[in-house]
Amino acid sequence: MTGSIKTLGVIGAGQMGCGIAQVSATAGYDVKLNDISLENAEAGKAKIVEAMDRAVGGRKMDKADADAAAARIVPVGTLEDLSDCDLVIEAASEKEEVKRGIFSKLCPVLKPEAMLASNTSSISITRLAASTDRPERFMGIHFMNPVPRMKLVELVRGIATEDVTFEASKAYVATLGKTTTVSEDFPAFIVNRILLPMINEAIYTLYEGVGSVEAIDTAMKLGANHPMGPLELADFIGLDTCLSIMQVLHDGLSDSKYRPCPLLVKYVEAGWLGRKTGRGFYDYRGETPVPTR
Ligand code: NAD
Repeated sequence: MTGSIKTLGVIGAGQMGCGIAQVSATAGYDVKLNDISLENAEAGKAKIVEAMDRAVGGRKMDKADADAAAARIVPVGTLEDLSDCDLVIEAASEKEEVKRGIFSKLCPVLKPEAMLASNTSSISITRLAASTDRPERFMGIHFMNPVPRMKLVELVRGIATEDVTFEASKAYVATLGKTTTVSEDFPAFIVNRILLPMINEAIYTLYEGVGSVEAIDTAMKLGANHPMGPLELADFIGLDTCLSIMQVLHDGLSDSKYRPCPLLVKYVEAGWLGRKTGRGFYDYRGETPVPTR
């Protein structure tokens, strides 16, 4: 653990918030995990316990360490429950109004010296920070998915972020055994500025009939040595998150090369958001994933 951070708040018990809670509790932090309801937060903790059980089964984690980490994660139903946290990481849905709404309710209950961070994939850290009462203690701490497996965390400073906040964030990430890279605060930072236009282009390739879902994923796995095909990866990230990131790139850089593919919009409108809803470019409801086009 770092000197200044002992208790961590995580807002959003989805795939990213759960991953951040898991790796932080494993590193010894006390974690309070929040979502829109206590039931959601508890369901998030249950998923973390399942994931750690699988790691114990695969001999990647000791049972005693998994039990100790689980005991350090407390699901909470309100933002007031985060009042004693030293650092709160927001990992709620990729919608600016959702994140702003959370910060406006959270800031009045947080202790003044607490640091605030967002795990946003694409939204301006400077703008999010400006909506809080502590832009100098605000950071972008952008974990990759799945958090326990991925080694990188992007650190993004807002215009007002103080050095001490940056250094504390860097030290916190180091205690998780992960490597940091620093990105300037521009739409989608480094990883998603490069990755999401590639995924969006794969969806255009499908939309224009150049190849089927299977052809596109096989082409990129075997032809470019990517561990996952771009459509499989889009489903894994979440198609709502992919669309939000493309919209941030399109709006923020005012360049038509970032226009979201209409087929991506259609899938999101259908509620086919990928793995998390059971259907996206593949249907996950059976034994093995089946392409939906
Ligand atoms: P998700 O859809 O799995 O989870 C989002 C969670 O936020 C849900 O449980 C939802 O109930 C909760 N939530 C929504 N509004 C809330 C509120 N007002 N208060 C508390 N909780 C609220 O999404 P995710 O994939 O975990 O993404 C979360 C964040 O992490 C986003 O900003 C996303 O861009 C970022 N991110 C995602 C990935 C990825 O690959 N999916 C990678 C890096 C970063």
